[in-house]
Amino acid sequence: MPSRSKADSSQSRSDAPPHVLESYPDQPIYSCLKCCATIALQDELISKAFSGRDGPGFLIHIATNVRLGKKEDRALMTGVHSVADVYCLGCNERIGWFYHKAADVSQKYKEGKYLLEKERLVKENMWTLDGDESW
Ligand SMILES: [Zn+2]
Repeated sequence: MPSRSKADSSQSRSDAPPHVLESYPDQPIYSCLKCCATIALQDELISKAFSGRDGPGFLIHIATNVRLGKKEDRALMTGVHSVADVYCLGCNERIGWFYHKAADVSQKYKEGKYLLEKERLVKENMWTLDGDESW
């Protein structure tokens, strides 16, 4: 019964709870300030020199444990962008936005990236307690 064994293997794969990342023990991560869900690896950080809605923001390649809100055109400091708000899956807090499209050619590098509000995140350095406050 080959089809039976196939079903069994797919069942065992579903044991892992949804939306929970495997742990990354060897690198710092950014977590949701409110619910501590893992949002991004520090490795995915592109730039800290961005502005969020309420303060400094990070441009990040890939965010996890998030969902996107409705896509809309928004006039940002660098021009009109097609964006969607980004919400934490754990606590539903808005933590930034996702760049679908940038109108200005010079802003195209942001497309498909995430802008996360610094003050919604907490950096967790898994290894060291070196007092790094400079992030
Ligand atoms: Zn959260």
